[in-house]
Amino acid sequence: MNPINVAKFGGTSVANFEAMSRSAHVIEQNQKTHLVVISACSGVTNLLVELANGVQDSQRKKDIFEELKSIHFSVLDQLSDPIYPEQAILEILEDIKKAADSASFQSSDKLTDHLVACGELMSTHLFTQLLIERGNSAVRFDIRTVLRTDTQFGKGEPQLEEISQLAQAKLAPLCQKHIVVTQGFIGSDSEGNTTTLGRGGSDYSAALIAESVNACGLEIWTDVPGIYTTDPRIAPAASPIPEISFSEASEMANYGAKILHPSTLLPALRHQIPVFVGSSKEPEKGGTWIKQKVDSSPLFRALTLRCNQTMVTLHSPNMFHAYGFLAEVFKILAKYQISVDLITTSEVSVALTLDQTNTNGKAPELPFEAQQELEKLCTVEIENNLCLIALIGNQMSDSKGYAKQVFGALEDFNLRMICYGASQHNLCFLLHESESKRAVQVLHKELFEK
Ligand code: ADP
Ligand code: ASP
Ligand code: MG
Repeated sequence: MNPINVAKFGGTSVANFEAMSRSAHVIEQNQKTHLVVISACSGVTNLLVELANGVQDSQRKKDIFEELKSIHFSVLDQLSDPIYPEQAILEILEDIKKAADSASFQSSDKLTDHLVACGELMSTHLFTQLLIERGNSAVRFDIRTVLRTDTQFGKGEPQLEEISQLAQAKLAPLCQKHIVVTQGFIGSDSEGNTTTLGRGGSDYSAALIAESVNACGLEIWTDVPGIYTTDPRIAPAASPIPEISFSEASEMANYGAKILHPSTLLPALRHQIPVFVGSSKEPEKGGTWIKQKVDSSPLFRALTLRCNQTMVTLHSPNMFHAYGFLAEVFKILAKYQISVDLITTSEVSVALTLDQTNTNGKAPELPFEAQQELEKLCTVEIENNLCLIALIGNQMSDSKGYAKQVFGALEDFNLRMICYGASQHNLCFLLHESESKRAVQVLHKELFEK
């Protein structure tokens, strides 16, 4: 079998006819690209999420349908032969209407996944037809027949063995003959229910699919020419990173760099698939290669920002010189399946943040029952509106003196929690949301712009 390159295009790269045409051009430039994973057209998933939450205002519901129709029809109107995709999209829009009415009555996670999956189901119809009309032998493939997950709607856990077997049987042979266009973000459970991998999950889908067909490369095409030293929307002076290691890029994704879904690099790392990140709008600008081995490993690589953090502070004088307190706390957290992200301790208190991996960006909540149980042990204080800034780098716990530079630059900020020393690759701190972007800007200037 010939080696396949997998290319993933995010929402802005398939936002309209022009964006789709640019993305098609990118695909045509690489003869090895035989598998294309795409997101919903930009903005569509947000509209579907709104419907899935149950819209009561009938005018608003009507406006959303109109907007969904207009996004997709603006592409159909520019295709030469839109009959087949038009029919398919009209059917999906009908399905959306029915599901949205059910959601207004009673929403559920299962119904939400059914609804939000419609974005990718529609965009793939359009993009396949566009590729065909440009003279490519393209076929659309419903990834739900391959991307098997468990039944956790909204955060489906991929079932790797099954995905690999199904992909080898159904997808890999097809890719030898055609350019296969398929959906990111969505999958199905063993009963055939549609599931999703969580917001931003198309990157992860692309990596899982690349792994399952033994791809030789994975390209993530987005709206920026690569991974930058921080989000260029926050610090416009941020600069692109030509080459970065899997571990550095994984840290960035885990600590909130939206450019990659946090799980994206796991499959790529397992199968040693080199990953490229670039802009479908400006492919000539190059991008970032994510690899196992890189030429330089600077002390400071990048800054990330992750908001909606929940900090829980547990305070008890009984902790003083006692043992077993933390064990009790963690027993309760484990009982309620609460995963802890960061933790700092002092003699009589513990501060921790709750893991945000499966909350689709929302602030994680401490379940009321868990809080009640903890309150039998200690006082419990919960704080929201906090953001986490992570400085990502290399050999950080072996290097002298840089803490002075970092905290000196941040002397005007009220840092709520600092995690330093546990990892070679990062230094993290929490601060109030209202000053978080300014803190990133100030620190970026100090560490990356001098
Ligand atoms: P897509 O829809 O293509 O998946 P996303 O919006 O999910 O695109 O991710 C791209 C965005 O990620 C960029 O527009 C940028 O604002 C943001 N971003 C956050 N951190 C970084 C970073 N370190 N480098 C580049 N972009 C970043
Ligand atoms: N369309 C989905 C979302 O907006 C998945 C993705 O774009 O990665 O979250
Ligand atoms: Mg994304």
